Formats: sequence, C-alpha cells, structure tokens
Amino acid sequence: MLDKEERFIQTMEKVINLSCKRLPDDVYAKLGELREKEDSPLQKSIYDTYFDNLEKAIRYDRPCCQDTGLPHFYLKAGTGFPYLGMIPQGLTEAVRRATISVPLRPNAVDYFEEINTGDNTGERMPWINWDISGDSSDLEVTSYFAGAGCCLPGRAQVFKPSEGYAAVVRMVFDAVSDPGLNACPPLIIGIGLGHNIENAALLSKKAYLRPLGTKHHHPKGARLEADILEGLNKLGIGAQGLPGNSAVMAVHIESSSRHTATIAAAVNTACYIHRRSIITFHEDMSYEIATHKGALV
Ligand code: SF4
Repeated sequence: MLDKEERFIQTMEKVINLSCKRLPDDVYAKLGELREKEDSPLQKSIYDTYFDNLEKAIRYDRPCCQDTGLPHFYLKAGTGFPYLGMIPQGLTEAVRRATISVPLRPNAVDYFEEINTGDNTGERMPWINWDISGDSSDLEVTSYFAGAGCCLPGRAQVFKPSEGYAAVVRMVFDAVSDPGLNACPPLIIGIGLGHNIENAALLSKKAYLRPLGTKHHHPKGARLEADILEGLNKLGIGAQGLPGNSAVMAVHIESSSRHTATIAAAVNTACYIHRRSIITFHEDMSYEIATHKGALV
C-alpha cells in the first residue's frame, strides 16, 4: 500500500497529465458557444481546428499545446489537513515525473546560470501560493500551466487617483489590442485591483482562475466586468487574433481595499488553452476533481 506522500505525488502527476491534455469543462463549453457567435468561415474554421486539436490531444495522449508552460499551484489548506509539510516537495516531485510521463516541454531556466533545468523545477518552481481556508481537513489544489504567450501581455501599474479608474480600463484594452499580442485568443482576462503592485498582480491571477460564469461579489465590480467584456468583444478581434467577434471568453476582477492615494491594477491574460484544474484532497487522501467531469486520475 502506498504511503500518503507517494499517493499525493502519483495523483498530482495524473492531474498534471489531465490539465495539459483536456480543457476544463466550463472552458470547453464556452469555446463551443463562441464558435456559434462567429459568422465568418475563417473564424469557424479556426474554431474547428481548435476542437480537432483538442480531440486529437486526447486520442493520441499528447498535450494540447506544444508550450506546456510552467507549473503554478494555488493551494487552499484547511488548518486540519494533516500533511501540509510534505506538499511542496510532493508537488515538485510530481512535476519532475510529469515532465517525462506527460511529457512536458522543459521550460524552467535559471536566471543567473542561464541553464534550463530540464525538469520544469528550479528556484521557486513550481510556483506555489498558499491560502489558509478555515478549519476543515481538506486541501484544495488549483493547478495552472502558464505558457509564454499568455504571460507576455501581462501588465501592472500603480496609478494616482487623479488618473481615475479609466486608467485601469485603458491598460486592459491596450494589453488585449496590442498588435503584438502573443496569447492565442479567445482569452480569459484577470484584473487585479489593489493598493500596490504585488497584491494587484496576485489578485489578477486569482481572477482568471475563477470558474467561467462567476461574477465579482460587488454589483459595481460585476458591472465593470460585463462592460469591459462587451468592449473587448467589440474590438473586432477573434480566435488567433484574426478578425472576429470574440477576443475574450470572460473578464474577471478580484479586488482588495486600496490606499486612499493609489489605484494599483494588474492585468493577466489566459489563452484558450486554459490549463486549469481543481482537485480537493481529504485527510485520507481520497479526492474529487471539480473541473473535469468524469475524469479518472
Ligand atoms: S498562448 Fe496558449 S495556446 Fe498559444 S502557444 Fe501559448 S500556451 Fe499555446
């Protein structure tokens, strides 16, 4: 019988495999919806190619994009989860094994040695973010594999209040309409609103990890999400950045209070290959996957 750590490692290796080969159910459904909204043969054929690619990734057991990104894990740990100490090393070992078994493209490069580590691990890699989530005995792990193309449009800036919230909207529109946009649309846009650069950046990431169809908790935040979504989808950008009706699948905002004298904002873009999976472990290491119905891992 496997010990708990080995069980965790083997399960997470399978979750990584799943994340890189099959899109979460909400994203898959949204892509189908957006295909129906396109009227040009070019856009329809791009969406058909996307779906063909996704189907072949499963049929031939291959990642659905050549850039398998870098591993990010966002954890929500109940204070009663008994194995917190082994989680970082367990995730690192799962990434190492998955690099060979999936396979993942080795993408992690050490900044100062300029050497690719070869197994997607390294300094602070995998990237792990912890939140404490009450007194349950569960651990929720959200995995995300961030490709270069979806990271490149990211921006963050701290504005003076005199520039107004319009400065945030302008930054988001610049990021999505930049002619050199590297991410493959339709995108999911995460906007973080905070008081300084790092809390805005973290919130922008958490924003795009939210399930599609969820809204900001404040009615004005939800209204801003809807307005930006509508505006971005009037830019005339479609799948693969070619003319079309839907540049983005969703706009999500996460916020914290701001300093009276700052408006800090960050925008993070996720491409259509949205490799997000959410698994919840219980204290006996049984688990449920929330994002991929019927997935056997
Ligand atoms: S932007 Fe996304 S879909 Fe496009 S190449 Fe990068 S990871 Fe792949």
